[in-house]
Amino acid sequence: MIIIIGSGVIGLFTALRLLENGKKVKLIDSDEINGKATDASVGMLAPLIEAKPYEQELFDLMLDSKRIWDEFLKKKYFVNQTQLKKNSSLLVAVNKDDEERIYFKKNFFKKLGFETQILDPKRTLKIEPNLNSNINCSLLCEKHNQVEPMLLKNYLLKQIKNMGGEIIKVGRIEKFLFSNSKLKIHNLCFEAEKIIIACGVWSSNLLSKSISISFPTRPIKGVSMLFKTEKKLFTNNIWFRNIYIAPRNLNFLAVGATEDEKGFDDSISLDEIHFITKSLWEYLPEIEKLKFQNIFAGLRSGVIDGNPIIGNLKHNKNIICAFGHFRHGILLAPITAEIVCNYVFDLDLKKKI
Ligand SMILES: Cc1cc2nc3c(=O)[nH]c(=O)nc-3n(C[C@H](O)[C@H](O)[C@H](O)COP(=O)(O)OP(=O)(O)OC[C@H]3O[C@@H](n4cnc5c(N)ncnc54)[C@H](O)[C@@H]3O)c2cc1C
Repeated sequence: MIIIIGSGVIGLFTALRLLENGKKVKLIDSDEINGKATDASVGMLAPLIEAKPYEQELFDLMLDSKRIWDEFLKKKYFVNQTQLKKNSSLLVAVNKDDEERIYFKKNFFKKLGFETQILDPKRTLKIEPNLNSNINCSLLCEKHNQVEPMLLKNYLLKQIKNMGGEIIKVGRIEKFLFSNSKLKIHNLCFEAEKIIIACGVWSSNLLSKSISISFPTRPIKGVSMLFKTEKKLFTNNIWFRNIYIAPRNLNFLAVGATEDEKGFDDSISLDEIHFITKSLWEYLPEIEKLKFQNIFAGLRSGVIDGNPIIGNLKHNKNIICAFGHFRHGILLAPITAEIVCNYVFDLDLKKKI
């Protein structure tokens, strides 16, 4: 039996992968935690856009995971259930500064081995006619995907249950005890050969209180919003300097996201609403067409070097970490599940961490 603490996208993907490989799995989570990152996430699967010059290792990991997402595109049921989309990313420049940034990015992407295309305003408006007509240019990055995180979560939960996995809800876990294959949480005791810590930004605190080991992670809050329009406005994922827009089914538009260091505060303040709505107002014509539906706040788990923390602990190899995915947890979930699976089965682990 493998026990996973935390059932965000990382815990769920990992659970399913383990079940597919013949393990028995229990997931333990709590309804008392607010600000779960997965629930606020927009679901962009765009490694190139997220690439940074000093993060080659992370970029390679994102590409590996994107390859798995591309395989999922062949599975009709998965695609329907999660609304996984095969669309492209369009970075839009609305002034000279943005334009320079786009040219810089094009060169950077080329160095990474990827050709992208600069489109003049006419060509940009041809593929996205509902953008402002006064744009400077855009950069088309083909074959980026997008998924709806809450649909993905529901799909994974259903599959896990169908395969005999169990999900147990408890009060917020402050501390666990794990030795001799016994896991104690509150007054419950479970048999477990290995446990996986997939509590997102709360993982380090939990480990610190339970076994006095902590990691340099910090919460980076993000706010996203959901709008609905009467007709479909965009086909591609649209990225401006400050915000991005993911077109979803039934004319929904997910817009993300703020990035702030406010500790574990998951409340939504006026400045966050202002940031997103002001950016939309600057970038899009006729924003009165966007009908507000919902707003979400999530705490991303930021790590000092940008890489997620995936692997087992030196002092107890049966405790496996899977957290610290910052802005990329949805994209990185499939590869994380694969790596964690390798740790569970003690396979060759030289590959990635
Ligand atoms: C606004 C926003 C937009 C984003 N957009 C994207 C995007 O477009 N693409 C992308 O790839 N990524 C995106 N991300 C990042 C992505 O959402 C995260 O990296 C990912 O969801 C992390 O998943 P997780 O399972 O590690 O954490 P979480 O989703 O936070 O899940 C952690 C789970 O652990 C449980 N838990 C925690 N502590 C305890 C405890 N003490 N006791 C019991 N249970 C506990 C929680 O209840 C929760 O269910 C975005 C994030 C935000 C906030």
